Amino acid sequence: MTKLATQKNTHDSLNLSQNANSDQESVTLAKAKKPLSPMFEQYHEIKAQHPECLLFFRMGDFYELFYDDAVQASAALDITLTKRGKTEDETIPMCGVPCHASDVYLSRLIRKGYRVAVCEQVESPEEAKKRKGKTLVRRDVVRIVTPGTLTEDNLLQAASHNFLLAAVAQKKDVGCAWVDISTGDFYVETVPFDKFSAQLAKLQPKEIVLSHGFMKSSDLFDVFDEWKKEITPQPPSRFDYENGRKRLESAFDVKSLEAYGSFSRTDIMAAGALLEYVNLTQKGSIPRLTPPQKVNRDGFMDIDVATRKNLELVRTLQGEYQGSLLQTIDRTVTGPGTRKLFAWISAPLTNPTHINQRLCIVEFFFKNPNFRKTLRTLLKQCADMERILSRLSVLRGGPRDLVSLATSLIQAKEIVHLIEKQDLSDLPAGFKKKILPVAKFEGLLKSLQDALTLDEQVPLQARDGGFIRPGYLDDLDEARKLRDEGKTIIAQLQMKYAAEYDIPSLKIKFNNMLGYHIEVTKTHANKVPEQFIHRQSMLNAARYTTPDLSEMEQKIQQSSEQALTLELHLYEKLVAQILENTNALVALADLLSILDVTTSLAQIADEQDFAKPVVDDSLTFDIKGGAHPVVAAVLQRDNEKEFIRNDCDLNPVNRLWLMTGPNMAGKSTFLRQNALIAILAQMGSFVPAKSAHIGIVDRVFSRVGASDNLAKGQSTFMVEMVETASILHQATERSLVILDEIGRGTATFDGLSIASATLEHLHEANQCRTLFATHYHELTTIHEKLKHIAFHTIQVKEWQEKIVFMHKVIKGCADKSYGIHVAKIAGLPQPVIARAEAILETLESGKASKHMAAVSQMMSEQLPLFQVQPEPTAPTIPEEHQDVLDTLENLDINTMTPIEALTALNELKKKIG
Ligand code: ATP
Repeated sequence: MTKLATQKNTHDSLNLSQNANSDQESVTLAKAKKPLSPMFEQYHEIKAQHPECLLFFRMGDFYELFYDDAVQASAALDITLTKRGKTEDETIPMCGVPCHASDVYLSRLIRKGYRVAVCEQVESPEEAKKRKGKTLVRRDVVRIVTPGTLTEDNLLQAASHNFLLAAVAQKKDVGCAWVDISTGDFYVETVPFDKFSAQLAKLQPKEIVLSHGFMKSSDLFDVFDEWKKEITPQPPSRFDYENGRKRLESAFDVKSLEAYGSFSRTDIMAAGALLEYVNLTQKGSIPRLTPPQKVNRDGFMDIDVATRKNLELVRTLQGEYQGSLLQTIDRTVTGPGTRKLFAWISAPLTNPTHINQRLCIVEFFFKNPNFRKTLRTLLKQCADMERILSRLSVLRGGPRDLVSLATSLIQAKEIVHLIEKQDLSDLPAGFKKKILPVAKFEGLLKSLQDALTLDEQVPLQARDGGFIRPGYLDDLDEARKLRDEGKTIIAQLQMKYAAEYDIPSLKIKFNNMLGYHIEVTKTHANKVPEQFIHRQSMLNAARYTTPDLSEMEQKIQQSSEQALTLELHLYEKLVAQILENTNALVALADLLSILDVTTSLAQIADEQDFAKPVVDDSLTFDIKGGAHPVVAAVLQRDNEKEFIRNDCDLNPVNRLWLMTGPNMAGKSTFLRQNALIAILAQMGSFVPAKSAHIGIVDRVFSRVGASDNLAKGQSTFMVEMVETASILHQATERSLVILDEIGRGTATFDGLSIASATLEHLHEANQCRTLFATHYHELTTIHEKLKHIAFHTIQVKEWQEKIVFMHKVIKGCADKSYGIHVAKIAGLPQPVIARAEAILETLESGKASKHMAAVSQMMSEQLPLFQVQPEPTAPTIPEEHQDVLDTLENLDINTMTPIEALTALNELKKKIG
């Protein structure tokens, strides 16, 4: 738990120069110089401290925005732009949002890239009046809302983490620290420059805090460009090591951070800056954070940015969740469960023991479908406890959070009881330890159940009252009784006055300005008795009070205030008790999220007939009857054709499969399904196969169908080559590489040569498990003799001049690509198809094919890339010519005349015949 940092940062702006609008600043300051009302003076003073943010300025029940803030916000939110007063001859633009609905507007502004400073009244008008002279209520910014520092449910997505990441560079390393302040999770890791992009792709941070200097790093220009919308630049001083260390030690109340692990200098610089940024945006009220956890990269499968995108793990290539692997296998029933599933897919493990522990839990639920069903029903009713705790820790929670927590604890108690009744002998010890004894939170649950009305409709804000259960506290009951009786008496008073003075439309109403008052329409003005004291005249009515009404009003007000004070006091006590139990509650939330993920994985395994994989330290990759989880699910959903299952056996003998086959046969699907099976197995999930034996994969690489990255100045071919280079440099014998179409983006011979050399390199140097799909059928002859290669193709049948794709992977090589057939299906005009067929015939029968054959022959005769080339030796001279050499050696050319030289030459010629 963090100590609440109490210092106020009223003069310390976030310094978000990226979003700061200098024009806006100058306009604002210029206006500030003109004579202003005290309220606007206060406004300008506060606005000047937060030039980079829209200022939500609290006035009564509204947050008002002025000047350019109003212009921008009204356009972004599509709300009316009005004006308020004038400074000299200029009107002041204004717009406002109601406080009770401010979350909705905030979320829209944050999504559009704005940052919002929320300025509240920090004293009541009564308190202001007590100060001599000035009566303007004090206002101050209590929070800066940025995309990475959200805590409210309305602003957050339940299914994904809301990471704020800070990064700092030293030499060629990047220190990264990231936190989700809505759950308290806090991590650090230092990665090399070239892994920074993959780190961001894995975490998908909503906001990235960087120093101005780091942003200029040319090595990471492309990365910063890609994430520019999320970046918040900060002064380099915020990343200072010494300050960072002290800040962290003080926040977590430890003498040394070593208590939590061994952190590098860059880890601490990043974590310190992160904490400072949270402090600045939360104005000193740091939410509950776990101590920083050091991430050990070795324990996780390495997946680079391109592979992550290509395999569509959590989003499709179009950026959609729908159609991703995550969406296809997600059967979780709670927000925390979905977030954990996201984390597991994004970072599969590499330690077989840890993987098998997860698999073991999934298997337990797989084999107990009834128990699984019961658990999932109970889990569904559990709230997001981590987010509730974070909100309560920064005083942003409310009675509804308390009720949700109580209901979740009731479900959790039931869940723990049910689990304890099971035979858990086969489950890993680590998991069993997580099952908390119910007694740990029994006391808290009792307090909540006793005190609260367990109704989902209790108010969001404690100040609205009405959430404490009747009968819980005598004083509260008494105060409520007086308040309610007062209201009844007022209703009776209304009837009495109406009857007594014969004014049927007489009403007793309430408003903030007058309090309770009698309203009589103009029609009955002549009937108003003398004892009615006039308070206000309106167009069609007049308002009055009476001594009886005033007395009743006072009673009601006093008893209402007393009831509310008592409720607020009880609320604070309950919140304090909850926060005292933070550790047990966080542990419980963790257990519930693990149960949600593992029951969800068991559920999908059951639904889709997945199998438990064998995962060990071998170099095996043996899949029997494998399927592509997403393609198979789509075919099943659409009631289309059946998905054809295929085997894949990459073993030390045949570790490279060269796949040829027609277009549309299913090569890409086959390649990807095997990569996905490896990822699923290592994240701890059953896999879409009849059986699977997987020797740990340290990295998955996939190069499939590249596209231009014109923004980065890279053509299709360049992207393809960059990705291929990355694979050839990094793949180890433990890696799984899938390569779909190498060398297609350039001239045929260049492409064929590159594909051929790449294949040789993978086979000889990387020695990794590889699936290599190609339309260069020549490769099958060129590399026939490689030792660890196996040739596979996908079956097609030709029938009545039509082609039927069988989608079945079989041994052998394809002889054609049937590209023109696919073009015909795609709807190319008939004359184009006919002409293409004619050209193909000429090419295949004529010169071109001979030429290709010659090249192929030449390449197959060439020395392979990695064969040791013999040292060049001196040419051997036939024995009968040895005396020619001797004669030549003995000739002294310097002393010979031209005639003697010619004669000697003639002699030599005669000797060699
Ligand atoms: P190209 O060489 O043109 O890129 P390809 O051989 O890589 O084609 P895929 O893109 O993998 O072919 O598959 C084409 C379509 O065939 C898929 O969209 C899918 O609908 C279907 N398909 C692929 N594999 C199977 C399978 N095993 N069972 C059923 N349908 C499949």
